[in-house]
Amino acid sequence: MLLNPPLRAGDVVQLKKRHACGNDLWKVLFAGADVRLKCELCGRVIFIDRGKFASRFKKRIEIAEDGN
Ligand SMILES: [Zn+2]
Repeated sequence: MLLNPPLRAGDVVQLKKRHACGNDLWKVLFAGADVRLKCELCGRVIFIDRGKFASRFKKRIEIAEDGN
């Protein structure tokens, strides 16, 4: 599956819009048709679809290492 923007589980991403807790950094838990993100500050987990994620995405802060 082509992921745009590039994304994989373990990455830390910055979104344009801040979470209610004031944080804008999210850990990627799952990246596919939907994206599961965990707030780095308050720990809240959210699910958003890929298109919505792409429109909110600002940049990758950390890139996960290869899992093998
Ligand atoms: Zn939060």
